[in-house]
Amino acid sequence: MADMKDILTIALSKGRIFKDTAPLLKAADIEPLEDPETSRKLIIDTNRDNVKLLVIRATDVPTYVQHGAADLGVVGKDVLMEHGGQDVYELLDLQIARCKLMVAGFPDRPLPEAGLKVATKFVNCTRHYFAQQGRQVDVIKLYGSMELAPLVGLADCIVDVVDTGNTLRANGLAPLEHMADITSRLIVNKASMKLKHAPIRDLLAHIQAAVEQRNNA
Ligand code: AMP
Repeated sequence: MADMKDILTIALSKGRIFKDTAPLLKAADIEPLEDPETSRKLIIDTNRDNVKLLVIRATDVPTYVQHGAADLGVVGKDVLMEHGGQDVYELLDLQIARCKLMVAGFPDRPLPEAGLKVATKFVNCTRHYFAQQGRQVDVIKLYGSMELAPLVGLADCIVDVVDTGNTLRANGLAPLEHMADITSRLIVNKASMKLKHAPIRDLLAHIQAAVEQRNNA
């Protein structure tokens, strides 16, 4: 049994991020002993005595890492920007789960100059983006299905992540303004980076090599 101070915990979410991260972890010789997609366990052991995975909601990953409840995390840049990234270092762009953070709305309806209503779960990113441009907006916080908001008059537009654009199109909406390119990042708690420097550096080197190898394949 490994000593607690030698154990590395990695927080990540199920679905797309886990699916795309698993091959990178495997290249670093880390394989979960259970499938997080089917297991109800929140702490998943791996083949390595000193590495455990915490399977949590994507939006909670930076919070666990910020407070040191997880040493490392895999999280979308959108979620990281929204959180603010306090007390974490961004170690590596894993170049997975690629998408764009966009303003979206009706393709044939210009956005009002004043009194613009924006529905989003990315309230901080949205305020920052419009404030930088000197545009005054009324931000309406939603937790999902943002596309509905313009359709029922709750908002003029939305801010959301867009991949293929199919969800927007299916609801008669279109991307209007590009805010940021998004990929998943490997993040680390600042204190863990000092206290567990050697195992984290080792893990980082292996994952970095796996990312480069995949990109060159
Ligand atoms: P799409 O229809 O392919 O543009 O996908 C749009 C929806 O899928 C969005 O509303 C998001 O909820 C989700 N989505 C797409 N790509 C990502 C991603 N990389 N990370 C998180 N959610 C995503």
